[in-house]
Amino acid sequence: MIAIVKQSATPEQLDQFVSWIEGRGYRTNVSQGDNETIVGIIGDTTRIDPFLLESMDIIEQVRRVSEPYKLANRKFHPEDTIIDCGYGVLLGGGNFQVIAGPCSVEGDNLMEIAIAVKSAGASMLRGGAFKPRTSPYSFQGMGERGLDLLMEAGAELEMPVVSEIMDARDIQLFLDKGVNVMQIGARNAQNFSLLKEVGKTQTPVLLKRGLSGTIDELLMAAEYVMSEGNPNVILCERGIRTFETRTRNTFDVNAIPVLHHLTHLPVVGDPSHATGYTRYVRQAAYAATAAGADGLEIEVHSCPQEAFSDGAQALTPSSFYDAMRRIALIREAITADPR
Ligand code: PEP
Ligand code: MN
Repeated sequence: MIAIVKQSATPEQLDQFVSWIEGRGYRTNVSQGDNETIVGIIGDTTRIDPFLLESMDIIEQVRRVSEPYKLANRKFHPEDTIIDCGYGVLLGGGNFQVIAGPCSVEGDNLMEIAIAVKSAGASMLRGGAFKPRTSPYSFQGMGERGLDLLMEAGAELEMPVVSEIMDARDIQLFLDKGVNVMQIGARNAQNFSLLKEVGKTQTPVLLKRGLSGTIDELLMAAEYVMSEGNPNVILCERGIRTFETRTRNTFDVNAIPVLHHLTHLPVVGDPSHATGYTRYVRQAAYAATAAGADGLEIEVHSCPQEAFSDGAQALTPSSFYDAMRRIALIREAITADPR
């Protein structure tokens, strides 16, 4: 629920109102704009009578906010959130970053891939050490050793590292290793206990949209993380499951401007999992960039045929290099377009 406060209200009246609300067990979020002050009322507002609030002298209008996400909602936080991912790499609010690397960390080839993506202009390094595979017989990731390789490469190249966390029991390991961004994969997008646990840290979280997740479900997943105290959430559109079988998933490019409208959190596009085929990845990356994404996550492998996972959708370093040039041109073309 939000209460729009009259322009004539004095700071004392506003304070009084806020304490009155908080005294009833709600949390508040006061957003002072140029033209109006909005008090976000957080909690189970079904017990509040909006007419009672509207009868108060300083209240202009009360609106029930149908969206159940408050912390992620742009209404209460009009400015874009900028996430500090480490090594001075900022993401969001006009700071565009490309996260690139192999699907899985496989061994010593990681450094070669990391050098290649960095020289092409990627600012963050990705790689899975714990892999959520459809089959239990597929490669499950190198585990702790994989994290060590990632952290070594990240430190050497001064690139923040993004890696997927599948189990809350591994959070301490990720923190001890210093993983810069914890990725929550599509399969865990509604693993609420995992979301809550990463929410208890301050490490940035790259939250993927669920396999058949709606935009609102993605926002509610972000809300789970944020409601535990971690505001550092990056959303990721990675394609959704539809009736289409020609591609691994269907890239919901619409989700990028829709999310920007609904939330202040940064949004990145993942054209690799969205399409599933190398031949389409670059075009989907261009579309996401043109749609205003704050960044991209792209799988790159020095030898896709030999990749332990997702080789079919990996870009080679040279094709990634070429794509990065075009992405920069698209960025230049759209930065003049205010959202
Ligand atoms: C990945 O990034 O390698 C991955 C498994 O992604 P998703 O969770 O989107 O399928
Ligand atoms: Mn992958």
